[in-house]
Amino acid sequence: MKEENCIFCKIADGEIPSKTIYEDEEFRVILDISPATKGHALIIPKEHYADLYQIPEETAAHAMKLAKKLASHMTKRLGCDGFNLVQNNGEAAGQTVFHFHMHLIPRYHDDGNQDKLCWNHLTLEPEELEDMFQKLVDID
Ligand code: 5GP
Ligand code: ZN
Repeated sequence: MKEENCIFCKIADGEIPSKTIYEDEEFRVILDISPATKGHALIIPKEHYADLYQIPEETAAHAMKLAKKLASHMTKRLGCDGFNLVQNNGEAAGQTVFHFHMHLIPRYHDDGNQDKLCWNHLTLEPEELEDMFQKLVDID
């Protein structure tokens, strides 16, 4: 299913042109228009799923398989020093386009992002850590 007014549906469809580095029946991989680093690309499923909660397990598995293939390809071609896979879900997590996508971010020692693409570390009290553990242990 496509969603009207979704920019990534239009890009995935080819209705809006993009710098496509890979395409198959299920996905299109494009260069990000506002990249974090040189070579920053996005894996976009051709079907519309808003986020990780919505995407079928099988499509998510295929996206991860493709991410592995592209990480190797991009590292070989770009000679990058490292690689981030980023996937945002929800406004609180920084998602701005509400069509599932996976960021492929080549990293370079001198890319100027060393203090970014990371987070502050909390120091939790033992009870808080235990509380988190009790909430999360035993998956349904
Ligand atoms: P998010 O913040 O939702 O995880 O990531 C959205 C990403 O899509 C951003 O990195 C942004 O630069 C990229 N983006 C948004 N609109 C376009 C577009 O029209 N073309 C391309 N190639 N990238 C886009
Ligand atoms: Zn869409």
